[in-house]
Amino acid sequence: MHEPLSLRSEAGFFDMPLNFSAYPLLDQAFEASPFAFVPGQASGNLAFLVELDLIENGSPVARAVWQAKQLGNLLQHARQKSAFWRARLPSGEINAAMLSYFPVLSRQELIEQIATEGSLMASPDGAPALPASPTTGSTGTPVRVFVTRQNAMYNSMRSVFEYFNQGWSVDGNLTRLMKLDFELINERDKKLKVVTADSWLGPLSSLFKNGKYKIIYFATPNDEMRAEMAKDSLGYLAAGSWLLERLLTAVSPAELKNLGMKAWIQLGGARVQTHIDALNEVGITTHANYSCEEIGPIAQGCSTCPDHYHVAHSNVVVEEDKSLTATFEGRTLSRVLLTHLHSYATPLIRYDVGDFAEFLSACPCGHQGTVLKNLYGRQKNFVRHADGRFTEFMITARTGRTVREFKEWRVQQLSFTELLLELSGVPDLTEQEVEKFQFLVGLAAGTEFKVTVKVVDAIDWSDNPKRLFFRCRI
Ligand SMILES: [Zn+2]
Repeated sequence: MHEPLSLRSEAGFFDMPLNFSAYPLLDQAFEASPFAFVPGQASGNLAFLVELDLIENGSPVARAVWQAKQLGNLLQHARQKSAFWRARLPSGEINAAMLSYFPVLSRQELIEQIATEGSLMASPDGAPALPASPTTGSTGTPVRVFVTRQNAMYNSMRSVFEYFNQGWSVDGNLTRLMKLDFELINERDKKLKVVTADSWLGPLSSLFKNGKYKIIYFATPNDEMRAEMAKDSLGYLAAGSWLLERLLTAVSPAELKNLGMKAWIQLGGARVQTHIDALNEVGITTHANYSCEEIGPIAQGCSTCPDHYHVAHSNVVVEEDKSLTATFEGRTLSRVLLTHLHSYATPLIRYDVGDFAEFLSACPCGHQGTVLKNLYGRQKNFVRHADGRFTEFMITARTGRTVREFKEWRVQQLSFTELLLELSGVPDLTEQEVEKFQFLVGLAAGTEFKVTVKVVDAIDWSDNPKRLFFRCRI
């Protein structure tokens, strides 16, 4: 008899490898032709998952060597293609070890680089411009970074990887919630938009049993929304925390459980412990990611240690900047600086995304790699209600700009019934525009609020250096 192989190597304990054989295969999964096994595209996807596993869960030394090479490539590229980056980086020998000496990239500088230089990467078929990712940011200054097709491919594979990495089944459905605010502004009778697909694993759905994929765009959880959710088992529910919150105002965790919801995959926003507890109570698990639109995945919540995030080392280098700290619930947190290893179209090197966290070099679960705790970011905007509840306030500047272009905006909660929206860079507003802004802000905060819209020459940020878009004054 053979002894079982030990996963404990001399260098230390490594995570369990991916276990594909635990996943149910389709009867027609394999190739029929001579000396062929798995169909080409599925085979390529499987190989990519194994590569991600080796980089993120394998030897920390091999990972560091790989990251240094990737970073070196990116630095060379940025210096060669961009006057902006030539001015920031040294002209001689350049390598990854120098990273912490380079200047921090602010959101404003990033916007300047994009405006003056555009994309630094031609697309593979020679077309001059690449599509920009959607604008982002809840403050008045959205960023429009350029991305490559490789970035899109990586992001999609990294999200598939997470299921296999965590050992989650893939034969159930995946339901994604999105907000309908855009359409709603001009077409208020429209209450729902639904997009469906037979599977959510891409080419791997020819190999493994895979559930249905459905995206539901909704504004309020009305009867139409309930009827749509009842059509298919929900399975994994992927949604930002503000959308889950909106859903929970009308649909209880027990109802969601009955609708087949297995787990909540949090796609952004703050972790609200009361929601997590309410879902856990009925047997729905929760899982959080840390990501941003400029970069894609940054870290994933640990499945055994709550509030510990394993950094996605195959995508990003996360640096702890102790020169700028914030205090949150008595803990000192450092500024998070992000370097996106594959940011060839718009380099993101030591980017200040506006978040703070505690840094660990390994996770108590045994995972070897940078771990973030107590993530505190600009997304944490809470509305305080008279009955003691706190709900997250979220509207993107992009949504606001569908009503009217403006320079900056800010919302302040003045009391349990009053909100003030200030806009700068707008000479005047029509009655209709005022009403649309009031409607948007009311939708995000709650129906009990009266929203006052005020046009100002410039927003006074003097008592709010982080320029937080939302401020609760009570
Ligand atoms: Zn862990």
